[in-house]
Amino acid sequence: MHGHHLLLGCAATLSFTVALAAQTTPAITPAITARPIEAAPKAVPVKVQKEVAAKTPALPKEPPITFNSVHVDGPYIAMTFDDGPSATLTPKLLDLLAAHHIKATFFVIGENVAEFPEIVARAAREGHEIASHSWSHPNLAKMSEESVRSQLQRTDDAIKSAIGKSPTLLRPPYGSIAERQKRWIHDKFGYDIIMWDVDPLDWKRPGPAVVRNRILKETRPGSIVLSHDIHPGTVEAMPSTFDELEGKGFKFVTVSELLGMATPETPRPKAEPVEKTATKAAPSAVPTSSPGG
Ligand SMILES: [Zn+2]
Repeated sequence: MHGHHLLLGCAATLSFTVALAAQTTPAITPAITARPIEAAPKAVPVKVQKEVAAKTPALPKEPPITFNSVHVDGPYIAMTFDDGPSATLTPKLLDLLAAHHIKATFFVIGENVAEFPEIVARAAREGHEIASHSWSHPNLAKMSEESVRSQLQRTDDAIKSAIGKSPTLLRPPYGSIAERQKRWIHDKFGYDIIMWDVDPLDWKRPGPAVVRNRILKETRPGSIVLSHDIHPGTVEAMPSTFDELEGKGFKFVTVSELLGMATPETPRPKAEPVEKTATKAAPSAVPTSSPGG
């Protein structure tokens, strides 16, 4: 009898979880959805299990390593610039950032770091964060572990050589990366995987006004804003973008600083799947069609 009840309890939990996942978190992978159920101790009586579930909806799980945005208590945001450094545009952007006393994060391409290490060194010296965006901007999700490892190691080495320390963050080119890759990359390199929640699609070069307006419209506290310091229009958009964001009260920090400010999401009256916080990352998996990132 007891076993029978337990089975029913598990089945109920399963359908409940699946229903919730279907309703609220389209991005969740089956593997993650299944984890809480697998993690539930099988021998524990149903009654106890229910109490445990009620008290701790957050089952023991690994902390998230992927972020699209960060839940913070203040008006903090992170501006990020990908694909550089550019010989001409990055120094120009650094001047603008300095004039506004803004700290940003640069997701640099290893090849470019090797070519312009002094620009990267300047950015680091002026308080910006330098992070990895791979060596030559390939689609990591389609590559062998060995090739990915080489892409990341070479970039790590180039950054370390330019600024004296290794990066702690990776943004995969195109935002394209497989779940299993995230895990071993995190284990081997210690990187958190950084996506974005604000994308002005500046790589399409829509003009500075459009870039600015898209950023202003989408940016919220905790946002990670994606753009690229290799497009003239993007850099041109920044003075007014910074002015307007400042006017709205936003404060600029690096991505690592933003991660350090993370606060737990306010518990909602309705139970939510555990993975919600973690998969706040990856809005809908992989924007492979976009050269963004
Ligand atoms: Zn990129």
